[in-house]
Amino acid sequence: MADKPHQNLAIIGHVDHGKSTLVGRLLFETGSVPEHVIEQYREEAEEKGKGGFEFAYVMDNLAEERERGVTIDIAHQRFDTDKYYFTIVDTPGHRDFVKNMITGASQADHAVLVVAADDGVAPQTREHVFLSKTLGIETLIVAVNKMDTVDYSEETYKEVKAEVQKLLKQVRFDSDDARFIPISAFEGDNVAEHSENTPWYDGPTILEALNDLPEMSPPTDAPLRIPIQDVYTISGIGTVPVGRIETGVLKPGMNVVFMPSDVGGEVKTVEMHHEEVDEAGPGDNVGFNVRGVGKDDIRRGDVCGEASNPPKVAETFKAQIVVMQHPSVITVGYTPVLHAHTAQVACTFESIDQKLDPKTGEVAEENPDFIKAGDAAVVTLRPQKPLSIEPSGEIPELGSFAVRDMGQTIAAGKVLEVNE
Ligand code: GDP
Repeated sequence: MADKPHQNLAIIGHVDHGKSTLVGRLLFETGSVPEHVIEQYREEAEEKGKGGFEFAYVMDNLAEERERGVTIDIAHQRFDTDKYYFTIVDTPGHRDFVKNMITGASQADHAVLVVAADDGVAPQTREHVFLSKTLGIETLIVAVNKMDTVDYSEETYKEVKAEVQKLLKQVRFDSDDARFIPISAFEGDNVAEHSENTPWYDGPTILEALNDLPEMSPPTDAPLRIPIQDVYTISGIGTVPVGRIETGVLKPGMNVVFMPSDVGGEVKTVEMHHEEVDEAGPGDNVGFNVRGVGKDDIRRGDVCGEASNPPKVAETFKAQIVVMQHPSVITVGYTPVLHAHTAQVACTFESIDQKLDPKTGEVAEENPDFIKAGDAAVVTLRPQKPLSIEPSGEIPELGSFAVRDMGQTIAAGKVLEVNE
């Protein structure tokens, strides 16, 4: 698998529309569920006189284990097509999915949107489509699922397709770029093989559409940015900051700086998986050692960049946000916690500059008194402690954030402008 390009895939969509079932089906059809596991279910199925229902058993078992709390996590499962190998990033429904999606912990290159044919566009369909656009996913594969529950009706498929196309237009996706595929994740129609139940459909299967996706290459040309996850002291080496390289390349000999702590020096060594390397790039988790930088000089939430192009530190910043849930209204002075990359900093709403029409993105009202759940707005935020963050137009990986309060994600946003 490792010689194929690696792509991160998110499966998004409303609860119960069939995301887990589709993941189970993809793993099953691509032979990514270990054979001995399948064998076990096959035997069980045969004992109960249900030969050929191995897939149902895989799913039942996943569900059962989930109920028992022994989560077989569908996140970070892998499968491959002819051209790529895919990792499924995080799982919608996970408590932190939305936050992880926004802060980049589960950065996806592509997404499959699952919409149940018998239900159509539902609230989380909207939420996830909006988020995926905000996070820079440009094309979607839309799986119109549960076609078996609507007698494989072409008419129902067309209705759901039209409804989704309308939604895509509202959030400014080019809906011509979206591939629509009528499937049954449960029965397996049009997932790995063309189904006889949909003779009116002559497009690709899910696996074919995944295989046809354009390859997203990691951003090595962008300036170096490493949000720091932890800082260790390792005997014989000294202080070792650890983090995932979001953009750029890290090499020994480079001159780096940590912001907002504002200390830096020359990189002595770079390690990946406990081995020294000459170079590391986007997506790599690294530990490195910088001459003259001690454990107390830097902290989690700092961002490391080259001294010649240091990470920005915001005095204030302008951002476009969408309020996903809030029990009352948000007014100037509200100070929730902002989560961006590895940083968590309280930020005050200094001004609410514009309310936007969520459908068109156009200005609906200047300086509104408040915003509430469902609103999109341009706001100015003031971090209560120094925060390193970047305009998403310059470095998307470091330009999005989640606003959290009372244990919930209140809003998602992207940075428009940083005032240093
Ligand atoms: P999720 O919440 O989006 O992950 O949805 P699940 O994958 O857990 O599916 C929700 C329910 O819909 C389960 O009972 C599945 O068995 C059922 N389901 C999923 N896909 C299909 C399908 O293609 N056809 C039918 N009939 N049921 C399905």
